[in-house]
Amino acid sequence: MLIDLHTHSLESDGTQTPTELVAEAAGRGLDVLGLTDHDTTAGWAEAEAAAARYRITLVRGIEVSCVHEGISLHVLAYLHDPSYRPLLEELEAARVSRAQRARRITELLAEDFELSYDDVLAQVHDGATVGRPHIADAMVAAGIVPDRDAAFRDYLFTGSKYYASHYAPDPVTAVRLIREAGGVAVMAHPFAASRGRLVTDEVIASMAAAGLAGLEAHHPDHTAGQTAHAAGLARDLGIFVSGASDYHGAGKPITLAQEVTPPAAYEAIVAGASGVGLVGESESTRGVGSG
Ligand code: AMP
Ligand code: FE
Ligand code: FE
Ligand code: ZN
Repeated sequence: MLIDLHTHSLESDGTQTPTELVAEAAGRGLDVLGLTDHDTTAGWAEAEAAAARYRITLVRGIEVSCVHEGISLHVLAYLHDPSYRPLLEELEAARVSRAQRARRITELLAEDFELSYDDVLAQVHDGATVGRPHIADAMVAAGIVPDRDAAFRDYLFTGSKYYASHYAPDPVTAVRLIREAGGVAVMAHPFAASRGRLVTDEVIASMAAAGLAGLEAHHPDHTAGQTAHAAGLARDLGIFVSGASDYHGAGKPITLAQEVTPPAAYEAIVAGASGVGLVGESESTRGVGSG
């Protein structure tokens, strides 16, 4: 089974519609696709319809932005109830703060470059969660940098003089809310040091105590050593090892299923969730999680 449970559409910082993403996944022969836009379920309905049409199993999810003592981290939520108020309120607060923060970063950039917040908004799909990749896209459109990667490398990296942070819930709170919503929580790219400061193993242990179910050890931003460390920590904590591509469409030089999700992680997610079910099961996955 070919499974990739971490991807983005243009409802956050991916570059494809949910339909295009599902169609590409089906075309590449994936059996199961997870849609995990940052802090929003806005792409779910369209992805559901597309999954039924393309006969691929869809795992509905989100990637929850979190902050612990000034360190940014991401927690994937799978198959949770999207109407659970306490979680929705945290996601909404993060989304509002993300927009304010994008304006702030743009103001800092505007001191040195010809760039306005309208230029950034022109890169954001209506209602989508705003992130640094959209600022990068505006910089590309303005001819300041050739691509997203150069924008991050030279101007948008965490710690840059143009950087600003945003509000997001503490990870222990996020894990608790995901569980209360019937979802399964998996920490995304836990040791991707290239993205900025990392939380300690002790913080991850406290997340596990709150119900974190797995660690995304296999991720394109992890070195072999970081993957091994994540797998070892997962084993010590008694939680599962996951993996995925974190595909963002044309926004990054990463292909769908570049890293894949172990079937055992997928089965644990399906078995552990009670918020919403799978959609559009393909033949090869019919029956998984039904016992
Ligand atoms: P933000 O959510 O606004 O803090 O921005 C982080 C997002 O930018 C993550 O979703 C990453 O996938 C994306 N990102 C980080 N580094 C790069 C890069 N070098 N090129 C393209 N996208 C990146
Ligand atoms: Fe992203
Ligand atoms: Fe992430
Ligand atoms: Zn992601």
